[in-house]
Formats: sequence, structure tokens, C-alpha cells
Amino acid sequence: MAEKTINEMNHTELKKYARELGLATVGTEEGLRKKIAKKLSEEPEPDEDDGLAERVNSECADMEDEEIVDLLKENGIEFRSALVDMVTKAVREGIIKLYDEVSVKKKKSLPTLLEYVDKIKEHNNIENKKMTPERKKSVKAAIGEAESRFEAEELTREDMISALDDYFGDYEKNFGRNSDKEIFEAYKHITLLFIDDDGEAHEKKDGYAVNKNPFCCARPLKKTKSELLKCIACGNKYENE
Ligand SMILES: [Zn+2]
Repeated sequence: MAEKTINEMNHTELKKYARELGLATVGTEEGLRKKIAKKLSEEPEPDEDDGLAERVNSECADMEDEEIVDLLKENGIEFRSALVDMVTKAVREGIIKLYDEVSVKKKKSLPTLLEYVDKIKEHNNIENKKMTPERKKSVKAAIGEAESRFEAEELTREDMISALDDYFGDYEKNFGRNSDKEIFEAYKHITLLFIDDDGEAHEKKDGYAVNKNPFCCARPLKKTKSELLKCIACGNKYENE
């Protein structure tokens, strides 16, 4: 601000100051003083903000994030774009991964349906030395039954896909590209993995042995940190016998 206060300024000085502020310079001394005072009150000096940030900070310290968001919303302040800017910055710095990037990675690391079948079919190979005679008998019978139902079209693509969806759950495999025969292969092998070493078929969430390996939900159990075995499908835990 000028060194003199507006009350100390003469008419010429007031006109000059008014021009500096972008105001019209016409009018009496008193009129100019009023115009200048009004203009100055609209543009507070930066010095007047001193300590404001601190005061706001201490006031906000006791508020939940939701309360701050509500306060901004209630007063019609656009805060979303500020948040989106922060997310953009975090993505650029690699702190946050975009969902697209994460899911693309995930899809790549998952085996295709045929790769999955390749991985599990050895458990159902009747030449497998570890297969008990009881399981071999039941596996052979189950293969025969499934094949004849598939050939007689009693076992439809929809039935099999529904079973596969149930088995794969969250993996959301896209079966659309697989032929009926491929879907059948996957369906058959997964069904056979429910048959235990005694030749008995199991339901989900029930532990059993397949070729002496611990299984649940037609999947081999995984070791956990605590030495327990865990089913990755249903989450049941079993003692490692
Ligand atoms: Zn299970």
C-alpha cells in the first residue's frame, strides 16, 4: 500500500492512487477516498492471511475426512478434481496402479483353460502309479458315464460351463472361445478330481486324498505358514497328516 494513508492524501495523490488501482479518477476527494476504500476492502492485503493456514489446520485436526468433504460439498466447492489430480500424480509416481494395468497382468499370469487341464490331467491318468485300484475303478466308470452323457447330448455346454464357472469362481475365465470338446475335457477332469483314493466322490468343502495327495474342492491343498494345509477354493484348513 502507499506510504500515506488515504486520509492523508491530497486530491492529486488520490487521483494517482485511484488510477493505479484501475479506478476512475473523477470525483471529489471524499468520493475518491470512498471508492478507494471499497476497492481495498475487496482485495485484502496478503499480510491479513498470516496464520490463517495454521488456524484452518488446527480447526481441521479434529475433523474426520468425511466431515471435511461434507463441509466442502455443502458450500458448493469443487473438491473432486483436486482429488483426481492427486490420484493422477500418485499413478505417475507409481504409488497407485490403475485397475486396467493390474487386471491385464493378472490375466496374463493365469493359465488358459487348456493349460489348466494339462496341469491337472495327470491326477486322473489311470496309468499313474500312485492311483489306487479303487480310485482307478471309479475314475474309469465316471469317464464312461460322462462321455456317454456328452455324446447323447444330455450333458450340455451350458451345464458344463455352469460347473466350470462354479469351480473357477473369481477367475472369470472366458469359455466362449473354447470348443464343446475342450469344455468337456475340462469338465471331465475337474469332476474326476472329486473322486478320492477309496473311489468315493466328494462334495465341496470336504477334505480327501487323491493319489495320496491332500485335496479339497477338486484342488490340491496348499501349505500355509502355520504348517496347516489350506484349500484355495473354500478356505478350509486341514492338519498336515
Ligand atoms: Zn475346499
